[in-house]
Amino acid sequence: MKMLRDSFGRTFPYIRLSITDVCNFKCGYCLPNGYQIDKSDNRKFLHIDEIKRLAKALSELGVCKIRLTGGEPTVRKDFFDIVKILKNESGIKKVVITTNGYHLDQKTKPLFDSGLNGINISIDSLDRETFKKVTGHDRLPEILSGIGKLQDLGFENIKINAVLLNGINSSEKDFEEWSKFIKSNKIDFRYIELMQTGDNLDYFNKYHVSASIFKNYLNKNKWIHQTLGRDAGPSLNYINPEFKGKFGIIAPYSKDFCKSCNRLRITSRGDLRLCLFGSTGISIRHLLQKDDQLEELKDLILKQLNFKKESHYLELGETGLTKNLSTTGG
Ligand code: SAM
Ligand code: SF4
Repeated sequence: MKMLRDSFGRTFPYIRLSITDVCNFKCGYCLPNGYQIDKSDNRKFLHIDEIKRLAKALSELGVCKIRLTGGEPTVRKDFFDIVKILKNESGIKKVVITTNGYHLDQKTKPLFDSGLNGINISIDSLDRETFKKVTGHDRLPEILSGIGKLQDLGFENIKINAVLLNGINSSEKDFEEWSKFIKSNKIDFRYIELMQTGDNLDYFNKYHVSASIFKNYLNKNKWIHQTLGRDAGPSLNYINPEFKGKFGIIAPYSKDFCKSCNRLRITSRGDLRLCLFGSTGISIRHLLQKDDQLEELKDLILKQLNFKKESHYLELGETGLTKNLSTTGG
């Protein structure tokens, strides 16, 4: 079988697929003014049939896991149909999502029934007011209630991500709150370092802080660093036998972050992005139109991989094509 491998020997069993740019939140670091229609790009978001063909080609190239993201993936009316088609008709083994948890308490049963293998929920703070300030929405209670319901249904793989924001959710008290939360909940909690994008330089300068402050907290409190499997994400994970959940850190500015890169991205309009911050991206959509284009599609994706660079060069302030993460799915 042809496999996705780049010129630095990295393989790509994992794809992040954005299915919409639309979002109903207004996170300060991403869409502070809410989602605005991009008048320069009137292409529609990928159709479910295009998504199915894409996933089939990817599975034949050795991809075993697809993460659906956005924008907010669950705003799509056919969201559950997309999950089901990927699970049952594409050959992809694991389908997971990243969501802001909007109306989670009302969606737990269909989420569970869809066969989804994992859910990452973004919660920047366990403090209701802080959550509201960051996202522009007072929805923390419905998200936490939704998590409880998912657990009651026996949903196994739940992770929570927060963007680490200096002076907002970066104090020892914040770390302690999360610590209490994962003590009794089998949930992994990860801080993501705030990334600079084309749109958020002021916000970035104001709130970016190195995740080393959290790392120091973990070391001080006897958390043990753990190594990971083949399709795992970029997170450094920490375990502690007295806790049901794990802690993690996603630090894109750290040295060697790109060495273990194992993912490619596809945007909601069918552009293949070799790196979240790369300025190389081509449309593969013309090859998603008919079932008999499968081989041609696979060849194009394989050829493009030769252009993947060794690093994102983010530390040099290069943000590539990424205006904000709602277009490439974070
Ligand atoms: N709307 C969904 C959500 O928020 O979970 C999925 C898309 S969102 C772009 C994916 C992830 O990227 C979220 O966890 C979000 O917090 C994170 N994110 C967005 N902008 C970011 C930035 N500038 N730096 C770091 N993480 C960011
Ligand atoms: Fe929406 Fe997610 Fe961006 Fe927040 S981070 S504005 S929830 S796409």
